[in-house]
Amino acid sequence: MHDSSISDSDSLAATALNHWRTRAKTVFSQGDIWFGTLLVDNHTLSRAQGDEDVSVTVGICDWEWAGPNDPAADIAQLGCYVHLLSICPLTSSAQNEVVYAFAETLYGSYFAGLKKQPDLAFWRSLLIMHGWEMANAAGWSARQSLWCSCDGSAVRCNHIKDLVLEGARFLRAAQRTSNIAEAAHEMAQLSWTKYFPIAGL
Ligand SMILES: [Zn+2]
Repeated sequence: MHDSSISDSDSLAATALNHWRTRAKTVFSQGDIWFGTLLVDNHTLSRAQGDEDVSVTVGICDWEWAGPNDPAADIAQLGCYVHLLSICPLTSSAQNEVVYAFAETLYGSYFAGLKKQPDLAFWRSLLIMHGWEMANAAGWSARQSLWCSCDGSAVRCNHIKDLVLEGARFLRAAQRTSNIAEAAHEMAQLSWTKYFPIAGL
């Protein structure tokens, strides 16, 4: 994020770092969940075509970062990668229909399954962890080929810069949030939060 000419990048990074150091580790988390650590069984997937009753086997690998973590950690990370896919230039409009359907199902089933309503701490964590992961995943050389085909590394082009800026918006929203009403207001300014149940906050 430092390379992207964001004037408040130091402040945003400090917010993310402070959150990471002080986060509540109250749930078990896989800790590195994105579509690179998900396995989908092609055999069951091909059998599923045209047959609504056949379930698809999905697995999760790479558990070396698993352990106690913030309640928002996994949904923030997986959600941010889906978010990146939805706005990067390598995703076609036809592919984006699948991405949006996945996002709707992912967040819909996640929030419907929570045992209690998310509180302010959860919303702040979700904004911070989503935004920080987004900025890092966009600027990380090892994963940049997922987002655009430009040459170079770090913030190498305007595509990557735009992805980092979107992550920065999440971090900035978290900084302005000291109560639920402010969280709802800030999240309403971010189009991706249409998948979050914030209407009644
Ligand atoms: Zn590019």
